[in-house]
Amino acid sequence: MTSDRISQELFTRAGAVVPGGVNSPVRAFRAVGGTPRFIASARGPYLTDADGNEYVDLVCSWGPMILGHAHPAVVEAVQRAAALGTSYGAPTRGEVELAEEIVARTPVEQVRLVSSGTEATMSAIRLARGFTGRSKIVKFSGCYHGHSDGLLASAGSGVATFGLPDSPGVTGAATADTIVLGYNDLAAVEEAFAAHGDEIACVITEACPANMGIVPPLDDFNLRLKGLCAQYGALLIMDEVLTGFRVSRSGWYGVDGVAGDLVTFGKVMGGGLPAAAFGGRADIMAKLAPAGPVYQAGTLSGNPLATAAGLATLRGATDEAYARVDRAAETVAGLATAALAKEGVPHRLQVAGNLFSIFFADGEVRDFAAAQRQDTRRYAAFFHAALEHGVYLPPSSYEAWFLSSAHDDAALERIADAMPYAARAAAE
Ligand code: PLP
Repeated sequence: MTSDRISQELFTRAGAVVPGGVNSPVRAFRAVGGTPRFIASARGPYLTDADGNEYVDLVCSWGPMILGHAHPAVVEAVQRAAALGTSYGAPTRGEVELAEEIVARTPVEQVRLVSSGTEATMSAIRLARGFTGRSKIVKFSGCYHGHSDGLLASAGSGVATFGLPDSPGVTGAATADTIVLGYNDLAAVEEAFAAHGDEIACVITEACPANMGIVPPLDDFNLRLKGLCAQYGALLIMDEVLTGFRVSRSGWYGVDGVAGDLVTFGKVMGGGLPAAAFGGRADIMAKLAPAGPVYQAGTLSGNPLATAAGLATLRGATDEAYARVDRAAETVAGLATAALAKEGVPHRLQVAGNLFSIFFADGEVRDFAAAQRQDTRRYAAFFHAALEHGVYLPPSSYEAWFLSSAHDDAALERIADAMPYAARAAAE
């Protein structure tokens, strides 16, 4: 039994001064029970907690750490930037270079830097409304786009984990223009356009949903969305905050080639510091202040430390690095599913490039309703046994597992050792 005494002490202290003891709900381990580990440091594929326990990390800060933790090039870039001053409130070379890197890798022609994925999607929606002069938006249940009011309807992930279908504090007015449809349900999208075609500003979708577990788009779902949006004069917003620069050099666009009119990014592009972005067609982006009338701003947007970390991360995210992440993901998915199969635990692996998740349920998961039919109790047992054996899994079965290019053979061996114990616990 590993000790979690210091984590417990810190969690108690945190609970006195921070609601629920954490600054983002899923960190609290509510879905799996127990005390969250307070992390003291991280390097490569490993996390070390305040009690000195080391874990192979399969969360990777929920996506950003594609090169692993404390990558020397990223640390050096941040240190160099910090020594030159941490924020100026004036433009910098780093912002230009990061924007150029994003434009070079993705279908967007212009990009605006912000500080969180929530800001990116919220601003993209405002821009879509400003550009089209329309009010309604379409989103899919189980897709998470951050916690802005209009998008916090049927939002998967943390919300699903807590079983809160809607959040108090989000007014009816804030979501009145949000049409929520079942994911992968093209007929429903067609009906919505038939009924409200001239009122819909945009459809926002995760390019490949990863916040209800991994639920890939069926066949030509994204392409058909794009076609319907074009037909009715609405914009397609591809949310690549999670998949961008992770599942390929560009993101899910590198897999299915469907370009959003607007695309949102975050996570990997900040290299573990707060940076995100939204971009798209130049004619749409031209509507954004100061070029156009749609207002959007941020004191720390394009922060020099964040752009330095993001640039160093993207420059390190080479084809070879992606090949390593892909190989590690395939190995870990294979180890986990083999262990579960051996113990006879019903499960379903769903894969999106180097992202995957395991539903503790039988049969294909094509939408949020199916994702919710899994046995979260078994996942909690699986999670805790893995933790006890030095593997830090996402503390919710509605999340993807994240690998990095630093997950080498030694880290994979530790996972191989832990999985049989985890599967046995899940079988009980
Ligand atoms: N969009 C997607 C697809 C996400 O996965 C997330 C976060 O997990 C967000 C938006 C919100 O990003 P942030 O947490 O940086 O606000």
